[in-house]
Order: sequence, then structure tokens, then C-alpha cells
Amino acid sequence: MIKELINEFYSAKGKNREKTAFYVSDAGRCPRAIWFSLKKYPKKPTDPRFMRVFEHGNHTHMRIMSVLFSLGLVNAVEVTIPENEIIHGRADAVISIHGEPHVVEVKSVNSIKFKKGEPDADHIKQLQLYLHFFKIKKGILLYENKDTQELKEYVIDYNENFVKNLLVFFNGLKEKVDKGIIPEIPKDIEDWRCEYCPYIESCEKAQEENKNIE
Ligand code: SF4
Repeated sequence: MIKELINEFYSAKGKNREKTAFYVSDAGRCPRAIWFSLKKYPKKPTDPRFMRVFEHGNHTHMRIMSVLFSLGLVNAVEVTIPENEIIHGRADAVISIHGEPHVVEVKSVNSIKFKKGEPDADHIKQLQLYLHFFKIKKGILLYENKDTQELKEYVIDYNENFVKNLLVFFNGLKEKVDKGIIPEIPKDIEDWRCEYCPYIESCEKAQEENKNIE
């Protein structure tokens, strides 16, 4: 019935997403997966369910932003980072609290992440990059529990050394992309990243070929 049609709609939408550059949201991702994506290696089709999860996240952003607007806090929304040689991205908002600018990233998370008591490492990386490129000292990760609509916020200070390491990561990866060298599988890669990775087949194949060369 209509379930299949809806899934087909989202599958078609997923096919149009082609990666051509590094994005702030790549911070924390597996470098090897980013590499395969930029080199347009074959990938598993995107699960339509994930597309709906992204869309749900977008709706959460819009809802929260409209409240922040009503409160008169918003300086700008969907703020593109200044042009630079390495990375693209768009922060959810820059708001002003008692005259001090803050970058805000809104995340719709499940109950497990919400109850963790600390922000997600990938989200911290993303926020730190925005702080760096906007030259703003403070940011807020605002979490909404998608199961209960509870809110939680983490105020984060800019950390210059932390960002330096992130930029080293992206510059190193850029060099590998330019030279056509596939990054190694990270030693600390979490199982779930590989489980959901659309490039798992390409990754395993490349690993096998590499072993044969050795
Ligand atoms: S399968 Fe795992 S190691 Fe390989 S590219 Fe994907 S996330 Fe990275």
C-alpha cells in the first residue's frame, strides 16, 4: 500500500545527496568513509528510515528556532561559515545572551543519548569548529529528547587546541584525497559506525586488496 510508496519517495531523495567537499558534520566521522564518499565509491542505498530521521531533526530545528525568534534572542539562523580552503558548514543559529554571542546547535536525540549526562563527542567537535570559524567564544548544544520532548543544554567554551587537532585531521585527510591514498581503518573505530556505514563493502574490499599487496 502507501508504505512502500513513501519509502520509495525517501529512497529517491537519498540518491540525490552527493558529497563534493568536507563539512563540519564530518567531524568525528570515519575518515575512510569520508574518503570513499568523496571518491564516489559505490555505497549501500540510504535507508528511507534514516531520511525520515533527518527530516524529523529538521522539523525540531525549525520549531526551536521559532521559539528563540519569539524570545528576541536570534541574531542569525542557518549561518554559513566564512569561506576557507578546507571545510564547509552552516550553524543552526547565532544568538545573543546578555549581549554575548553564542553559537547554538539543536540536536534531536533519543532517550539513551539524552540521559547520558554529557554531550555527544561528535556534536562537541562540530560546535567547536563553528566557534572557531565564527570567532565566537561560547556555544550551546541544545538537546531535545525525541521521545519525550524534554530539553537539556550544554554550554561549551571555545577550545583552541582542540580545534587545532580537528583541523590537522581535515588537512591530513585532504592530502590523502588529493593523492588518492585510502586512509587506514581507525584503530578506535566504534562497531556501530561500521554497522551503519554505507561503504562497508568498499572498505572490506580495499582492506583485502591491501593485505594481498603486503
Ligand atoms: S566500514 Fe567502518 S572502517 Fe570502513 S569506512 Fe565504514 S566506518 Fe570506516
